[in-house]
Amino acid sequence: MPTYTTPIRDMQFVYNELLNPEEIQALPGYEECSPDMIAAVLEAAGSFCEEKVQPLNRIGDEEQCSFDEGIVKAPPGFKAVYDEYCGLGLNNITSPTEYGGQGMPIVLGTMVEEIVSATCPAFGTYPGLTHGAMNAIEASASEELKNIYLPKMTTGQWSGTMCLTEPHCGTDLGMCRTKAEPNDDGSWKLSGQKIFISSGDHDLAENIIHLVLARTPGAPEGIKGISLFLVPKIQVKNDGNIGDPNGVTCGAIEHKMGYHGSTTCVINFDDAEGYMVGTQHKGMKAMFIMMNTARLGVAIQGLGAGEAARQGSVEYAKDRIQGRALTGAKNPDKPADPLTVHPDVRRMLLTQRAITEGNRAFAYWVSTELDHANKNPDEKRRQQADDFVSLMTPITKAFMTDMGSELANMGVQIYGGHGYIREWGMEQIVRDVRISQIYEGTNGVQALDLVGRKLGMHMGRYLRGFFHPVDAYLEETKENEALAPFHGALAKSFGRLQRATGFIVQKGMADPNEAGAASSDYLRLFALVTLAYLWMRMAEISMAKLGQGDDLFYQAKIDTARFYFERILPDSGALFGKILAGGESMMNFNDDAF
Ligand SMILES: Cc1cc2nc3c(=O)[nH]c(=O)nc-3n(C[C@H](O)[C@H](O)[C@H](O)COP(=O)(O)OP(=O)(O)OC[C@H]3O[C@@H](n4cnc5c(N)ncnc54)[C@H](O)[C@@H]3O)c2cc1C
Repeated sequence: MPTYTTPIRDMQFVYNELLNPEEIQALPGYEECSPDMIAAVLEAAGSFCEEKVQPLNRIGDEEQCSFDEGIVKAPPGFKAVYDEYCGLGLNNITSPTEYGGQGMPIVLGTMVEEIVSATCPAFGTYPGLTHGAMNAIEASASEELKNIYLPKMTTGQWSGTMCLTEPHCGTDLGMCRTKAEPNDDGSWKLSGQKIFISSGDHDLAENIIHLVLARTPGAPEGIKGISLFLVPKIQVKNDGNIGDPNGVTCGAIEHKMGYHGSTTCVINFDDAEGYMVGTQHKGMKAMFIMMNTARLGVAIQGLGAGEAARQGSVEYAKDRIQGRALTGAKNPDKPADPLTVHPDVRRMLLTQRAITEGNRAFAYWVSTELDHANKNPDEKRRQQADDFVSLMTPITKAFMTDMGSELANMGVQIYGGHGYIREWGMEQIVRDVRISQIYEGTNGVQALDLVGRKLGMHMGRYLRGFFHPVDAYLEETKENEALAPFHGALAKSFGRLQRATGFIVQKGMADPNEAGAASSDYLRLFALVTLAYLWMRMAEISMAKLGQGDDLFYQAKIDTARFYFERILPDSGALFGKILAGGESMMNFNDDAF
């Protein structure tokens, strides 16, 4: 099994040297979040996850969750680690202090999520879903509901879910059939069936708080008639303690490709008592408020999987001897050379490295902007940050999860046949990360969100949040000779992105299928240019640090940047070509011939 070590040095490089930790510490409520304090939390979270969470990964995969006479249990060992995890406060790092959370920056929460996702992503779903549900409650529920439910969800005593999907509707939630009828006392009675509900039932927490999309009597058809409800598994008495069961049962658990340690449930609501969250018929709006953080959370699952696969691949490739270097033996006193001598293995190792480190920078950047969007006292800065996060959310979700899958597959390839064999752990990463491309809005839907909503938003204002800094950086560095090779390539790929944007906006107005046909390639192009911008900045920082005692680290950054620019960024040319080819070849294909 590959052994994961928290990449604290690299996390700190991104946070302390690429981003602006002083700006985060200056935000109201974050005064104590110095880089030293962030480092201490990372050390503590890293060692706990390495020692306690990581061993659950294999146990969860092998032993799986159980369903027996309506009782659902997480795999053996999960409950004890969950209790310890919550006891240490790792589940509520970013939760609001008024409900007992620690109120620390979202970027720190992202770093800890990365560690959990790399050590046991299935375990991460239990606190992760609770966090998503808490965000929705905090943003839209009444003070009374917040005061009853948030404190116990913050400690982890109660957990949470998001109940959207039904058998006949996943992407198209407007077809939701779950019903909510009003009771005389202002509460509601919910009936219907939800499927695929992550952490829908389990034995880790005393109560499970479901956030459920449902339709009230006479509600308008489609998405405009959906409302959001809070429905506890066990009713909560006036004193805040649990009372009688609440007409919420688990009908079955799903048998899945991966994520075996995470329960995925059919949840039946039979006249279950619930409470409306937010305004009637505005359920989707209430859900969307917490979408940015939830989607970023799924992106981090891709990042964690990529890092776990990368570390395992490096360890294996250094150790495994096979064949000789093309230029002659590198290890003449041994029967063969290590895998690391082979150019094709190096290509894969460096791709894993360049994408993972680039994505880490991308994820932490978006997270710090989320912190500004939530906390910056300057309204204009808050708005800018919010625009940027809205633009980048579908890109991080789709690109990082696609890459998590691709890099894990590369891990299997680096291990050769052993990668395909269960005991080595690589194939589990492939199976586990695959769902991240599907849930929380499929990656195809993310691409549509980008081209269909985000590009045109406020006459292109969102786009300017990325285009302006890149333009300014290209201008600022144009005379810098050391950066010249990076500068030319970034300018070229950025030019392609700008032209592709114009092409899609223009073509899409005349024919929406054109925008849809270009969407996934455009999202990938956008992500590649974003990583190029970040890699160039990381190379610039590293060049300035050479000769100060940590050359191995900084030279590796510069070399990885070079690999990214020479061996990955050129894909932007192919993507650009595909976008400009238009959608006719797919849309004109005869349906009967499929
Ligand atoms: C392990 C697991 C855990 C899950 N956890 C949860 C959970 O906690 N809560 C919850 O509510 N749901 C959960 N889901 C459900 C998940 O969010 C849905 O499966 C997902 O949204 C896709 O819906 P669907 O499966 O119905 O696919 P469909 O909506 O039928 O989509 C099928 C394909 O068509 C494409 N497609 C569909 N509509 C469009 C469109 N308008 N434009 C372009 N392409 C389109 C999709 O991209 C996809 O490729 C989970 C699913 C799994 C497998």
